[in-house]
Amino acid sequence: MQRRHCLIAALPWPCGAAWASSALQQAMRRAEALRDEALRAGDQPYGAVVLRGESIVGAAPSRVITAADPGAHAEREALRDAARRLGSNELRDCVLVSTSRPCAMCEAAAGQAGIVRMIYGTALSDGGAPQVRVDGADLVAAAEAGDLARLRQRLAAGTPVNARDARARTALLAATWADRIDAARLLIEGGADVNAKDELQDSPFLVAGAEGRLAILRLTLAAGADLRSTNRYGGTALIPAAHHGHVETVRELLKTKIDIDHVNRLGWTALLEAIILGDGGAAHGEIVRLLVAHGAQLQLADAQGVTPLAHAQARGQKTIVEILRRAGAKA
Ligand SMILES: [Zn+2]
Repeated sequence: MQRRHCLIAALPWPCGAAWASSALQQAMRRAEALRDEALRAGDQPYGAVVLRGESIVGAAPSRVITAADPGAHAEREALRDAARRLGSNELRDCVLVSTSRPCAMCEAAAGQAGIVRMIYGTALSDGGAPQVRVDGADLVAAAEAGDLARLRQRLAAGTPVNARDARARTALLAATWADRIDAARLLIEGGADVNAKDELQDSPFLVAGAEGRLAILRLTLAAGADLRSTNRYGGTALIPAAHHGHVETVRELLKTKIDIDHVNRLGWTALLEAIILGDGGAAHGEIVRLLVAHGAQLQLADAQGVTPLAHAQARGQKTIVEILRRAGAKA
């Protein structure tokens, strides 16, 4: 009781206020209910709540299994939920209440958001203020700059190859965005995870596909890229590659077992995106030709029932209409 009393007094609310204790207990009961919900859904047994004053402003169960997202820990999901509801990533004066002690990734996310205190477990244990760990920031910056000497030096000094910066980006992800091929090769040879996602759900493999970083894409494929991984729109690497008109990237991905007919959260396949979001020019025409040649389903319509051919016709994409018609597509 003594400890709990100290804890309550340390919260950024009026000292010793009776409601602070009851608000924390209520928040924990909600977190425990979310944990049970996660368990029933077949997910990991964690739940978390973000508390501001007496109000619960964010709450979530673990969605690691149900959303097939290794970063969707209950604490991070609760922080996201609060940011969405409050319309701000700044969660100043908020307390993170979770069924278990937050892991390093969640603690870093809490620190970034400005969470003042972490309370965990049935006994309302005090985790103190989150320590923002940006161990990986220097390694990530070296990768982004393509500075091989600094990369080697940091790795030799003991920075883990998969260390992250404050946005949960690994050095390999930064190298991929910046198209630093030599840096990416060095990191992958050093064991970098080609599927490690940042807070935006981007991974080196997904970004290499979406942005047409062909050389790095090949490196990620050789190093065990997860062909079924998806971005924040629920799309595989193939879909944004088709959308952005990266012909060689699409060609490379079609050599793999990637699902050519995968449908993203917008209800679109790679074929639909190449038409709807493309410009009907040479690159998108070639991509449609490749997708058709590899057996993409021609009649897989969007959520409104509009087929690829109908979309191409509506946009006056003559070459694409011709390719689809010759392959036997119907509007
Ligand atoms: Zn966590």
